[in-house]
This record gives sequence, structure tokens and C-alpha cells, in this order.
Amino acid sequence: MKNHFSANNRESVKKELKQGVDVLIVGGGINGAGIARDAAMRGLKVGLLEKNDFASGTSSRSSKLIHGGLRYLEHMDFPLVMESCAERSILLKLAPGLVKPTEFLMPAYKDDRYGLFFMNLGMWLYDFLSLFKNYKFHRKLSAKDVLELIPQINPNGLKGGFIYYDSRVNDARLVINNIVSAFNHGAFPLNYSEAVEFYKQNKRIASVTAIDRLSGEKFNIPCSTFVMAAGPWTNSLYPEIEGEQKALLRLTKGIHLVFPHEKIKTPTAVVILSNNDKRIVFVIPWEEYTIVGTTDTDFNDDINNVYPDISDVSYLIELVNKRFPGISLKPEHAISCYAGLRPLLVAEGSAGEISRRDKIIKTPSGTFIIGGGKLTTYRKISQKAVNLILRELKLSAKPCETGTVPLLKDPPVVDNSGSFRIDKDTAEYLKKRYGDGYLEIIQIVEKNQDMADRIYENLPFIFAEIEYGIKNEMLVHVGDFFRLRTEIFLKSSDNGMSMLDKCSGILGHALGLTDVEIKAQIMDYRQFVNSNLNCIGREWK
Ligand code: FAD
Repeated sequence: MKNHFSANNRESVKKELKQGVDVLIVGGGINGAGIARDAAMRGLKVGLLEKNDFASGTSSRSSKLIHGGLRYLEHMDFPLVMESCAERSILLKLAPGLVKPTEFLMPAYKDDRYGLFFMNLGMWLYDFLSLFKNYKFHRKLSAKDVLELIPQINPNGLKGGFIYYDSRVNDARLVINNIVSAFNHGAFPLNYSEAVEFYKQNKRIASVTAIDRLSGEKFNIPCSTFVMAAGPWTNSLYPEIEGEQKALLRLTKGIHLVFPHEKIKTPTAVVILSNNDKRIVFVIPWEEYTIVGTTDTDFNDDINNVYPDISDVSYLIELVNKRFPGISLKPEHAISCYAGLRPLLVAEGSAGEISRRDKIIKTPSGTFIIGGGKLTTYRKISQKAVNLILRELKLSAKPCETGTVPLLKDPPVVDNSGSFRIDKDTAEYLKKRYGDGYLEIIQIVEKNQDMADRIYENLPFIFAEIEYGIKNEMLVHVGDFFRLRTEIFLKSSDNGMSMLDKCSGILGHALGLTDVEIKAQIMDYRQFVNSNLNCIGREWK
């Protein structure tokens, strides 16, 4: 019988962790999830601790791009661009439901820091570094072509432009699908479990104590190797492990705004070059919405409370209004926004200029720390980390299979005219998101047809996904369902607030929560929403 990654199965995951693992990973972001999956696929016994929900850190707050990184050409970082382009091709193939090719327009203006000739050279280089294997080659447009494509774009000083291709991704879902796949390959990931104490034997980390934040239980996990994939939390955990302060990472903050199409809609993603601070801002179509981002500023505040500020919002809005003068965008036109911290390798220079390269640092206690990097290259750094772990364990290196095995199993072929009803668009969405898990969603709907109803009429998410998440993805909190397991927080016009009681009721019932516990979840989520959306003038009572 299939073992379920169920929220009601946490005790059996803990039991396995207590018996000890070959590799213990702290951090359930994209890097921790990718390493867990790769290591489990190579036959290691893997544990993973995440102190909140999976993907709750930086990995759900990105620009949602799997990209070569056109911008890195400016810094001559050709190996990084080449690696990122290669990873883009792999992910397009292995996670087609999550990673989508996307057209980008880079308009060229008279006062840009590069002329048309240099931009064209950069585009050729970008195609070349992907070994001409990208989805399509770039093409040059005249000013007239650009205006025909996007009539709202500022015509003053417009010289022409380029169309090139990168990809979009559902970042949080990429993490969760990696976590679930890791579990299905024999790993033991546990959310809401914080690593709090680290014990050494012969100067090496030999076990870690965790607190289950749901039950309050403290438990110890013996481990042969230890990986810290804690993203922005790395600097603060380092002294706990090594007994001395060391700033390995430089944290820079980036925010994004989400607008409905009535306020801003472009047929392709648009690149805005900011000549003042040499940054790039993207306007990215996202189904019925448009994402605008991002900023890049040094961050030295409380890493557990990172929210967009009014100044971040004004910066983005000003740039967009300058590029699209007729639309008069205002902060209150955004329906949501979010902020994240880039865990970059320490370097001199302005925030925007720091390299996005990754590095695996081995510390005196034998800990492997993942520093820097991008969502795009998570699979590759996971592969490198597992190779090092195998070497450390003196095990003959089994080949990595994450470059050839799809992230999800294909959905079953089912006749939608059976004893259940799921509308066609929703069925397509569910198959892409859950692969063979679609069958389980059907089983939920077969028992209760109301579960096939959409939570919001204009969005594909259905009530059955709550029960599915609990049974198959260790979902324990309604706020996580709204902001990480689905995009209700980002996309619904009221950020999920009108459906909060109903959805928390369904979740509470399935998990056996008390009324007090359900109320606490509702309050948590409301506080999360208000703290994030304050800067765009939204507050929900
Ligand atoms: P995280 O996702 O932060 O994961 C670390 C996890 O560790 C957290 O979930 C945290 O809760 C957990 N943790 C910490 N301490 C403990 C503890 N003691 N016990 C248990 N768990 C703990 N990359 C791209 O490729 N494309 C993009 O478009 C892109 N856009 C970006 C835009 C912005 C604004 C930002 C900030 C980043 C962007 N990136 C992008 C970069 C990418 O998002 C990050 O490199 C990546 O998500 C980092 O993942 P991670 O797993 O290292 O960290």
C-alpha cells in the first residue's frame, strides 16, 4: 500500500528521524527539498526539518522565473548563465506542469546604458550560452513593432527592442513537489519542526535536537552527515553550530507587487532597465494577473518579519509609470505583494551587483552549508551536495537521476463523465499540479461532490485540495493552504479573507483541531496578510 505523506502521519516520520539518518537537512526551501530528493533517490536515509511550512522562506517569494539570467552577462558571469540555461532546459522537460516558456520584451531607449548593437550582441551571447537549445531564438524588433505589440509603452526615445525567451515557475509548488517526491523515495521531511540544538562527537555534528512546534515535543535525531540549507537564517545558525560568529551570507531584500489585468496587462513579459541604479525590473504576465518586481536592497533587520515597505512599492510604481505613461498605476491598484531575502554569498559592491553563484561550504564541524544560488540552479547544487555527502560517507557514488526522472508521475487517464464532476479547466489545473495525485482528488470528490466546487469562482482552486494537502502533503495550517499550497493569498481579490472561516473549518475537521486552535490559525493568517499588505493600503478586520 502507498505510504502517505500525511499530516496525520507525523508521528511515524518522527519515529524514523529519532532512529537516526545518513543525512539530516535543516531547511525546507528549494535547496533543502532538492537535496532531500536527490539523496533519497540515491538510496540514503534522509531527514529534513523545516521550522514553518515547506517553502515558507525565500523560495515562495521569488520573481518566479527559471531563467538563464540575462543580467549576469553584464557582470561577465558566463559560467553561471550557461549552467542556468542548461537547468532551464532540464526543468522545462521534467516539470512541464510547473515551468512554462515565456516571451520577454526588452525595449531599447535612447538613454539606455547599452545601445542596440550591444544589446543584440548580448542576445546572441544568451542564445549561444544556452547552446542554441532554448525554446526559441531571440529576435530584433523595430520601434514600430514594439509599439504595435505594446501600444501603452512610452514611445519617447524608443529605438526598437528584442524578444527573448525564459521561463516562469510556480516557486512554492516546485518546493512542495520536491518534498513529496523525496518522501516517496524514502526521505522523512517534517514541517513545523525547528532545529534548536546541535551536538558534536569528535568535533563533528553527530545529532540535532528539534522541537515539534505543533506538539511541543523535543526530540533528538542522530545523523552521519549534516546539511544546512537554511537560506537567510544561515548567519544566525552558524554560531550555534561552530561556536563563533561568521557572516557567510549577505542578505538583500526584494519585493513584488501583483496587479489584476484591469490595471496592467502586457502580452509578453517586459524588462525595464533602471538607469539610475542599474537594476532590472520585470513586468511579468501571470495568468489573469501581472507581477511587477523586484527591488534589491541590503537588509539588516529581523529576518523573521520581512515585509514590503512603502518606499519599495513607490520605487516599482514609479518605474512602471515611466515606462507605461498612460496607465497611472497606484499602490492601491495592487491586490497583493510579498517580500523575500536573497541569501547571497558575501561580497563587496552594491546589492544589485552581487553574484548569484552558489557555493557549498564545509565547516570545521563537518557541516555542509549551502550559500548563494538561485531557484533555477537548485537541482545542480543539490547534485553537488549529494556527491559530497556520498564522499564523506565513503559510499560509492550512485549516479544522480534528478536530471532524467520527472518531478511528478503522469496523471491517470480518467473519464470525467464518471460518478463525479470536475470542470474541465479545473481538471487540467489539478493534473498539472498534482500529477498522479489527481486520482486521489477524484476519490475525495467521489465521496463528496461539494469538494469539487471552486473556492473562488474565477480561480481554479477547489475545496478537495485541502483534504488532499492534509493527506498527501503534510498540510497543517489554513494560512499555508492560502499562501503556499495555492495562490489564493496572491490572486483572490480579498486575499482569501471571505473564505477563511469555511476553509479553516474543513481543515480543522480533517485534522481534529479544537475551535481555539482553528481561531488561532485564522488570527495568524489575518496578521500575515495585514503585515504584508499594509504598504498597499489593505487591511482586513
Ligand atoms: P529558503 O527558501 O529561505 O529556505 C530556508 C528554510 O530554512 C526556510 O524555509 C526556513 O524556515 C528554514 N529554517 C531556517 N532555520 C531553521 C531551523 N533552525 N530549523 C528548521 N528550519 C529552518 N531565483 C531564481 O532562480 N529565479 C527568480 O526569479 C528569483 N527571484 C528572486 C526574487 C527575490 C526577491 C528573491 C529574494 C530571490 C529570488 N531568487 C530567484 C532566488 C531564490 O529564490 C533563492 O535563491 C532560493 O529560494 C533560496 O532557497 P533556500 O532553500 O536556500 O532558502
